[in-house]
Amino acid sequence: MEFNAKEKNAIAEEINRGVISNAYIVEGAAGVGKTDFAMFAAATVLCTDDKKPCGSCLSCRKCKEGAHPDLHIFAPDGASFKIDLVREIKHRVTLTPNEGERSVYVLKDAHAMTAAAQNALLKVFEEPPAGVVFFLLTEKRESLLPTVRSRGRTVSLSAAEDGAILSYLKEKFPKADAAALQDAVRMAEGSYGKAEAILKKEGKAEREAALKLCDKVFYATGRYELYTAFLTQARKRESLIQLMDYLSVAARDVLCSKLGCGRSTLLSQEKADGYAAATTGKAVYESLEALLDCGRSLRRNTDGNTALTELCRRITHGKG
Ligand SMILES: [Zn+2]
Repeated sequence: MEFNAKEKNAIAEEINRGVISNAYIVEGAAGVGKTDFAMFAAATVLCTDDKKPCGSCLSCRKCKEGAHPDLHIFAPDGASFKIDLVREIKHRVTLTPNEGERSVYVLKDAHAMTAAAQNALLKVFEEPPAGVVFFLLTEKRESLLPTVRSRGRTVSLSAAEDGAILSYLKEKFPKADAAALQDAVRMAEGSYGKAEAILKKEGKAEREAALKLCDKVFYATGRYELYTAFLTQARKRESLIQLMDYLSVAARDVLCSKLGCGRSTLLSQEKADGYAAATTGKAVYESLEALLDCGRSLRRNTDGNTALTELCRRITHGKG
């Protein structure tokens, strides 16, 4: 199945008319299909056929195999996009393309670029070498400098419809049972990547850990005790991110029980009602916000201890 078909058709139509920007900012939540979109757009730019992307010319085939010499993909090195990486990009763009007239640069997690890196890149945007096309992928357009934003055309990818995610999952996980598929769709909030992660095994440990942590999160607990409980369950960034995803769904379940709106998705209804009875609406709401923010800052590569300290401060503060 095709993700973001509408946005892909629109950009292909433009490129076929010869309208190509030097830089595109592809914005959308994690797992919404930014890389997939950029790869499609890159193939369209590089395709040598009249009707782009034809899918069958040598260039299209090389793009599909990830072996096109004029398709350059960069991702941040660890926590941030270092200026050295941008220097490397700046050097490469001055070289003539290997095969055709154009070369494409895809920068994943462009929001991880430091201000210095963005400023260095800006010089390329201001005087772009002929034929160079950039795709900056970012979860938050606002995290790019205004000067960078103004140089690029923004393509916003929105969250997918539940039905589309469900058919994608059915195709990808033919053996998964219907209830598990429904769970994953409900919890994914429009993100294919998130839905997939939920269905894959890796999520199971985090799901269990989240259920164990609920007592600490929703019942009165001291800040230090809460912090230690988190660290006992997960330490790695990826695990912590998944933990935050599960816990925020749990917090929403409790909030829903409190407000009498909708059924529980992760917690059993009994559990959700129990937590709801033991806590105030304000406390649950503040915990939910804090969990979502913590997930966001971990995704932005904030140090795990810093993110957890802030999370525990806010959760305990909300209860006070
Ligand atoms: Zn082609």
